[in-house]
Amino acid sequence: MTRCEFCGTRAPVTSVVFRQNTGMIVFRQTRAWEGHACRDCGRAIFRRATLHTALFGWWGTISLFVTPVFLVLNVVHLARVLRMPSVEVVRRAQLAAHEAYAQNLLATKDRRTVAEVLQRESGASRSEVEAFLDGLVAARAA
Ligand SMILES: [Zn+2]
Repeated sequence: MTRCEFCGTRAPVTSVVFRQNTGMIVFRQTRAWEGHACRDCGRAIFRRATLHTALFGWWGTISLFVTPVFLVLNVVHLARVLRMPSVEVVRRAQLAAHEAYAQNLLATKDRRTVAEVLQRESGASRSEVEAFLDGLVAARAA
């Protein structure tokens, strides 16, 4: 678990290179997104680079050959990205792993403090932590 280089989120990441080609008959322009991406960023960059290349990549002699290669490589990297769990799933699992800890904290500390601690420990957003705490409180009341 490290940090995504594209969004900064603490999440599982994988090394990716997504390439984009723009064919302009005589000229061509390429762009690459290279780094360690979380699942969400990987999917978003894939969508952007691949859609652009599929539409605007073909126009030119070299581009005609480069474009299918880029498209295939982008799909290969997408497959790596899709093997990782999403950031949301990871955060929910991290919060669930803190359940006993959260129960103990709730018994002695006010809810705001508990939420701040959980947010720091799990990397989850405030709304995710609040939803998790709502669940815990509801389970206690039942
Ligand atoms: Zn990301």
